[in-house]
Amino acid sequence: APGSGYRGRFAPSPTGPLHAGSLLSALGSWLLARSAGGEWLVRIEDVDRGREVAGAAASQLSALDAFGLRADATVVYQSQREPLYQRALQQLLDAGLAFECHCSRGQLAAVGGIHRRCVARSNRRDPAIRFRVADDSAVAFTDRIRGHVQQRVDREVGDFVIRRADGNWAYQLAVVVDDAAQGVTDVVRGADLIGSTARQILLQRALGLPTPRYAHLPLLLDAAGRKLSKSERAHPLDPSTPIPAVRSAWRMLGQDLSCLASTGDVEALLEQVVASFDPSRIPIQPMRSGPLPLSHK
Ligand code: GLU
Repeated sequence: APGSGYRGRFAPSPTGPLHAGSLLSALGSWLLARSAGGEWLVRIEDVDRGREVAGAAASQLSALDAFGLRADATVVYQSQREPLYQRALQQLLDAGLAFECHCSRGQLAAVGGIHRRCVARSNRRDPAIRFRVADDSAVAFTDRIRGHVQQRVDREVGDFVIRRADGNWAYQLAVVVDDAAQGVTDVVRGADLIGSTARQILLQRALGLPTPRYAHLPLLLDAAGRKLSKSERAHPLDPSTPIPAVRSAWRMLGQDLSCLASTGDVEALLEQVVASFDPSRIPIQPMRSGPLPLSHK
């Protein structure tokens, strides 16, 4: 319903086919948007050319389509939005909040791995550009699922890269610029990204952009207790059998399977899940992917 003001998004990197963890993020962000009467966008985060897998974006979009998760606006590709990132970078440079850095990873490792001042003795390498994190940068936010979260960005992260030495834009800058440019009010994503949120809030403040609300969904682990990863091609979703995958994601979101009637139509299933979704049941702790318990139907 237009007018609710809620706008969410799903923002996969095209590093491989969507897996059960991606579906959890896609369905979770979609459900929170739909149950708020809001809009839901899809953005392909293809800024890292080195990690991109040819054809992955197209296969992700066709999988979302097969799962009945359709964006309310045209899908945007970060690779086509460089001028926006360039403008933001220039704004930070002009304000003295970003600087060229020639330090190598090895040089930084020798001083504890956290950048607080440059330690490179020569300017031979191409520079990265870092955002300068002030001393005492304690950033706090309220996560809709996890409650109060705080990070000392100066001590735990340090000055962070916003454009890499190889010319690629860093995820942190691109995501902040795009969430603001697309008017995203609610960022809903996997808990593996919770450690990036404080950095993103610092960038929003430095760029004069609003901070959205955040909700970090439970991490999905494989049977061995490791995070599922697209680039390792973990459990790719099969777009020809969306129903069991949606039911499984629904259970991972802490929701009650017994309130879903049996159906062979994913659109009908999505109508049911929107109607019975209870955001307060979304768990905090990591979830293990695995076979579904026998359904009640
Ligand atoms: N592109 C990121 C990923 O696929 C997600 C970014 C986000 O949701 O903020 O892991």
